[in-house]
Amino acid sequence: MTGLRVEVDLDKVADNTAELVSRARERGMSITAVTKVMLGAPELAQAMSVAGAVSLGDSRVENIERMRAAGIDHSMLLIRSPMPSQVDRVVRAGVASLNTERDVLTALASAARAQGRVHDVMLMVELGDLREGLMPAQLNQVIAHVLGLPTLRLSGIGANLACRNGVEPTVENMGELSSIVDSVEAAFNIEIDVVSGGNSANLDWAFGPSPTGRINNLRLGESILLGREPLQRRPIPGLHTDAVTLVAEVIESQRKPTMPWGRSGQNSFGETAEVEDRGRVWQTILAIGRQDTDPTDLVPPEGIEVRAASSDHLVVETGDRMCPGQEVRFEPGYSALLRSMTSPFVAKHLYRSDTRS
Ligand SMILES: *Cc1c(COP(=O)(O)O)cnc(C)c1O
Repeated sequence: MTGLRVEVDLDKVADNTAELVSRARERGMSITAVTKVMLGAPELAQAMSVAGAVSLGDSRVENIERMRAAGIDHSMLLIRSPMPSQVDRVVRAGVASLNTERDVLTALASAARAQGRVHDVMLMVELGDLREGLMPAQLNQVIAHVLGLPTLRLSGIGANLACRNGVEPTVENMGELSSIVDSVEAAFNIEIDVVSGGNSANLDWAFGPSPTGRINNLRLGESILLGREPLQRRPIPGLHTDAVTLVAEVIESQRKPTMPWGRSGQNSFGETAEVEDRGRVWQTILAIGRQDTDPTDLVPPEGIEVRAASSDHLVVETGDRMCPGQEVRFEPGYSALLRSMTSPFVAKHLYRSDTRS
């Protein structure tokens, strides 16, 4: 096995999923487990489905096709508005999709007609974070458009907060989503099955004391994988925070001064170094860089400090010399994990730790 790898303990992911599913159920909500950070790894999707996720969510049709090809037949949701160039594939994959654009909806309806299918859509509403979503005043027009297209079925209304501006889900904005759903139902005399309140940032609100109103679904990725809520990155009690590990290998370890010498300009990334002289240290280099992860988003083990990173080198300080070939295990944050999963140089090792399964 190569020294540079992401390790995913599928039993811990399954435990985290089951725990969140059960706590959400007590509050009247189902969980859509989001696989996008793991590029739709089928073993992961399988573990999340068995653990009770009502459906799987992914932002890329490529990942969805990968799961379908591996035989994952669970209900799925494309959690990004489809690219017009991909509507045929989205419909063919037999998934529902999030939507905000009339023209995309029209294109999905035509693709569904051509394939003899009905495509489920969830319309997204803007609640203030200013990423995807229809302004509430525009919603009814688009609903009328969907209801007029016989090959589309309006399966839900949703919202997404926190991803762009960090706007937190609160009693107020979740209450607004509930009222929007009530008024849509009254205006069109229809029933909205799924009201999807948001992502892992919704957990404080979801497990808090206030009524959940009409919201009956959450789409969770980060909290299942990393066991943390994303607004303050606090561990969620009862969840594993070590289901995912990033492992890198030592390639050099030398006693060196902390002060560079010679005339300095910008480094390879346009940054100018601010260095303080701390004398000589054990400077160790790991064979992982910005191409493979987000070096600012790694929690190193005790006694190791991340100092700098270039494309392929991570410079850390260690109390002692480390031997080339030794491995260092980091706890990645969301951004580090996302980049590691996407680097072809990082091996992905998904395994089961638990003899129960
Ligand atoms: C990524 C994403 C999610 C999951 O977010 P987490 O913070 O990983 O729980 C949910 N909904 C949408 C629309 C997303 O893009």
